[in-house]
Amino acid sequence: MNYEAFFKKSVAQIKTEGRYRVFADLERHAGDYPHATNRRHGTKKEVVVWCSNDYLGMSQDPIVLDALIDAAKSYGCGSGGTRNIAGTTHLHVLLEEELAQLHGKSAALLFTSGFVSNDAAISTIAKLVPNCVIFSDALNHASMIAGIRNSGCKKKIYNHCDAEHLEKLLGEVDINQPKLIVFESVYSMDGDVSPISKICDLADRYNAMTYVDEVHAVGLYGENGGGMSELEGVADRLTVIEGTLAKGFGLCGGYIAGSAALIDAVRSNAPGFIFTTTLAPPIIGAAIASVRYVRVTNELRVKHQERSNTLKQMIRDAGLPLMEESVTHVVPILVGHPVLCRQATDMLLMDYGIYIQPINYPTVPKGTERLRITPTPLHTDELMENLVHALNQVWERLQIQQAA
Ligand SMILES: *Cc1c(COP(=O)(O)O)cnc(C)c1O
Repeated sequence: MNYEAFFKKSVAQIKTEGRYRVFADLERHAGDYPHATNRRHGTKKEVVVWCSNDYLGMSQDPIVLDALIDAAKSYGCGSGGTRNIAGTTHLHVLLEEELAQLHGKSAALLFTSGFVSNDAAISTIAKLVPNCVIFSDALNHASMIAGIRNSGCKKKIYNHCDAEHLEKLLGEVDINQPKLIVFESVYSMDGDVSPISKICDLADRYNAMTYVDEVHAVGLYGENGGGMSELEGVADRLTVIEGTLAKGFGLCGGYIAGSAALIDAVRSNAPGFIFTTTLAPPIIGAAIASVRYVRVTNELRVKHQERSNTLKQMIRDAGLPLMEESVTHVVPILVGHPVLCRQATDMLLMDYGIYIQPINYPTVPKGTERLRITPTPLHTDELMENLVHALNQVWERLQIQQAA
């Protein structure tokens, strides 16, 4: 076989389908968030970033920067191995305590990313429990789907955020058969929210475990940033709460929080935890500082919501098609066509210095291609006015449909 020709053909196919991804080469400016320099074909251009999941700008917060540098100087840059082989530093112990507390759970466990935490934890929990059946929301993230697949367990997919359908599926399985319900609290493309407390009621009634991905909610919701489960007062009813250090907390790494016995079982069995070098001490040191700061600084969350609500209203007032499904910080605007979506974002970048990534199939269903905007506490009124002005012009230039 001509392998090289094969891979070229494979990429050509992706291009034909309009699924080829081009990454924006960005040099972000710490201290001047959300401004960045974009390099393209040997030229440089100043841009404003509007689509980062660094939701609170914590990646460049001076407290976090200092903690990262301190930890590197004190403990070095690499962790030196897996958690078992010299990789557990005192910082790991402290951060896991901090995260367990954040969610009111007795223990927490760190992974190298949120993706790995979902894949490793879901597959391990479901595999350990004999004959476990997994109930999964239809729009769950790829990392959760990977965990479900890797468990090898039987799965039933319920309609997105539909507790009635979930109940119907739960009723089809013997009450004594072990069950695991996996879902996200905030779905990041539409900005909608799972009926968490209804799902907890069903879990009680049908004797199921619950696993919630709070990746787009930790740091952002609840009095202490414990996520939607804190906001709705149901954290203690959930079996596992999973989160990331990469989005609201601005670093990288993932974790789960749960009972001491469950965490111990995952720690002792998950290959994705056991056989990989753990997070580096500077990241852990910075994460401790970020989580502690975000926990006690509710003003950040208030400001974050205010910025998002203000932008949503400006977009509505401009007659642009805001997707009203979003009840959270996510601000999606419908384009409804993959080529127009790409053209709109190219135009925004090149003519207006605005960076927004187009969201196309397969990330969202065909016909719902969109711009996904994520304003942070650091996006000012002036930046928002510039954004809405640019969006209006682009909508007119490309003749994209306005709001109904
Ligand atoms: C981003 C994301 C993850 C993965 O988290 P990382 O820390 O980026 O690996 C998991 N779940 C959802 C819903 C996500 O959007």
